[in-house]
Amino acid sequence: MSTILTIAEARRGELSPVSHELIAAGASLAAAAGARHLVAVASADAEALADGLARSGVDELLTVTTPTEHFDAHVAQQAAEALIEAEDPVVVLLGHTVDSLGFAPAVAARGGHGFASDVTELRWEDGPVAVRGAYGGKLAAELDFPGKSRAILLLRSGTFAPAIEPASPPRRAVEVAFGAPAAEHRGFTEAASGDLDITQSEFLLSVGRGIGEQENLPRFEALAEAMGATLSVSRPLVDAGWQTSARQVGQSGKTVTPKVYLALGISGAVQHVAGIRGAETIIAVNSDPEAPIFRVAHYGAVADLFEVADALERHFA
Ligand code: FAD
Repeated sequence: MSTILTIAEARRGELSPVSHELIAAGASLAAAAGARHLVAVASADAEALADGLARSGVDELLTVTTPTEHFDAHVAQQAAEALIEAEDPVVVLLGHTVDSLGFAPAVAARGGHGFASDVTELRWEDGPVAVRGAYGGKLAAELDFPGKSRAILLLRSGTFAPAIEPASPPRRAVEVAFGAPAAEHRGFTEAASGDLDITQSEFLLSVGRGIGEQENLPRFEALAEAMGATLSVSRPLVDAGWQTSARQVGQSGKTVTPKVYLALGISGAVQHVAGIRGAETIIAVNSDPEAPIFRVAHYGAVADLFEVADALERHFA
């Protein structure tokens, strides 16, 4: 029986949210491939972290205890290579994150494995097929890996529903003979508030070109704050320099998964909608009843967004 290996990710003693998305994606790929699904975590506190990975769809949990307290690309590379050698997986799944990008391409190049980053869809057709954007997001490319007995795939965070069902898969500690660390962890630098992470927000108030003028933007920043929401925007507002790309939702921006996504004056172009499919509830306000956003919205109002903003401001004053 072949093996799908998912490698979870952690930072500062906590599993990254993408870990549970990787588990769900790995479990469904393993089911389609008739493979077993191993989930591994490599960290100084791997044993403790493994509790949070005990979810349904995991056939076995592997723990690798690393000598360094914090992420080190060289250590992560050695752990991944040792796991691959020991378990011989046909597919290795990792998050498309800054950590994985620091070592997974090297693992693929050194091992001669297939590789794809920023994968947004995954399926099995006699082998893995990965979908990712190409040519600046203008095309969705489907990749298979002819001639490769193994593929390393980095999945985009927020595009796969997380595994939530608890389970009690068997566990195994894997010993790895680590070489001396190649780097020293000097500390963390907190992100500036302008670099906020909209992917972690449960409530996004998102505005588009419908707000008309840059001068109107502060009003919606204040409204978002009053409502307990985080402000996000469609791409034209970033292209115009009104907001930073950290707040852009969509195919060439961020994929978001809030509980509520309130879209004011956003038409719902495919490239925007690609970033909000994982939102639990989408509420759209648009003056055009034919706006495509209404095709994906759970609730919609054909209305002037400024009138809706007036009412919300009165309510949240
Ligand atoms: P518009 O399409 O101009 O829509 C404005 C909407 O506001 C209209 O529907 C209008 O009816 C409504 N409106 C106007 N006035 C009012 C009012 N007073 N009250 C209520 N409604 C009103 N876009 C993204 O957002 N994110 C991406 O990541 C992204 N990536 C892209 C990648 C590529 C390769 C390409 C080619 C495009 C990408 N785009 C992206 C751009 C995308 O195609 C759209 O152009 C963009 O999403 C449109 O933004 P919008 O809805 O704010 O503006």
